Amino acid sequence: MRNKEMLLIPGPTPVVDEIYDALSSETYAHTDPRFVKVFKNSLDQTKKLFNTDGEVFVVAGSGTLAMEMAIINTVAPGEKLLVISHGYFGDRFIPLAKAFGIQVETIQAEWGQHVRKEVVEEKLASGDFKAVTVTHVDTSTGIMANLDELVPAVKKAGALFILDGVCAAAAIEEDMQKTYGDPSYTIDVVLTGSQKAIGVPPGLAIVAFGPRALAAREAIADVHGYYTDIKNWLPIMKDPGKYYATPPVNMIYAFNKGMELVMAEGLNERYRRHAALGKAVRAGLMVYGMKPLAPEAIAAPTLSCVLYPEGVNDVEFRKRLAERGMVIAGALASLAGKAFRIGHMGNATEDMFVKALQIVGETLNEMGHEANIDKAVAEFTKIYHAR
Ligand SMILES: *Cc1c(COP(=O)(O)O)cnc(C)c1O
Repeated sequence: MRNKEMLLIPGPTPVVDEIYDALSSETYAHTDPRFVKVFKNSLDQTKKLFNTDGEVFVVAGSGTLAMEMAIINTVAPGEKLLVISHGYFGDRFIPLAKAFGIQVETIQAEWGQHVRKEVVEEKLASGDFKAVTVTHVDTSTGIMANLDELVPAVKKAGALFILDGVCAAAAIEEDMQKTYGDPSYTIDVVLTGSQKAIGVPPGLAIVAFGPRALAAREAIADVHGYYTDIKNWLPIMKDPGKYYATPPVNMIYAFNKGMELVMAEGLNERYRRHAALGKAVRAGLMVYGMKPLAPEAIAAPTLSCVLYPEGVNDVEFRKRLAERGMVIAGALASLAGKAFRIGHMGNATEDMFVKALQIVGETLNEMGHEANIDKAVAEFTKIYHAR
């Protein structure tokens, strides 16, 4: 790997050499048939990733742009949106929707807890909500939303189900034709960015619209966006040789390669690998007296927020890790200083996490906390291979 450091933050995630190679391809004209073929292939693979019979949109931007596209193309100003939030990224939909004159109501879980289905059902019964947002994995807390409960609750009420998959897509199943208890109970919109579980550098906003979400766009007379209006992109996504706004040619090359790697591994195997990896990383860290914020039953396969043992200084700890080539992220809001966040998604390898556990153990020992490195690595390896 060309990477010198282990980037184990909640995204961007480690980039493998094949993707760097694709990124440094010669920049052809965006209308050159050689490029158009690659663009088309990347879109076809994205459709397979979400198994949608609707349309996918891949444009220059980040996950936040994809969030914006999801909202403004389905909910008109004055209509009601319900935000179900398990943390910082769930909350991001609130100011975003308000910026477009959408009426927002929110159900916020206490950090580290789940929003209960009954609360959602009660809320939906109290008003005419056009859509509901759910963050599949909230990157602030490492909580994974329970789609088996939430999709039926939302669809029963007739609202559109919008899934923020930025920290989940390509690591946790997000199948838009999967039915959750009734043929009409399906996910309507899924969105993500290139830099998390897909393992490509940051730079792309990716969003999939199912048939009902596309119909919702048709029903909105005046969308408050131009670059973000999916109607402007529809002709390009159907025929990527057409021009609307210049696509980021090299990022598309990288994305296409990233998606090829995802498909070569196989979606189900990738989902199984991430589930095992999440459990294994947490089990390894627990040997050191660290405590994941999320109860294991709702802990994410992609990212963990982990509380320090008594007396470990966050800034000092992360600085020492960085000196050894391992980069993790601090925790947000009230957890800042008390916990850290470690990403375990995308193309990060088993070897990396063995090394990461060694570095964490050595650093703890150095800082005067006893850490049994062999035991942590053994625990990780056992669980990772038990899948
Ligand atoms: C990272 C992240 C975002 C924001 O994506 P950007 O690419 O930083 O704009 C949104 N939602 C979730 C769940 C995320 O993890």
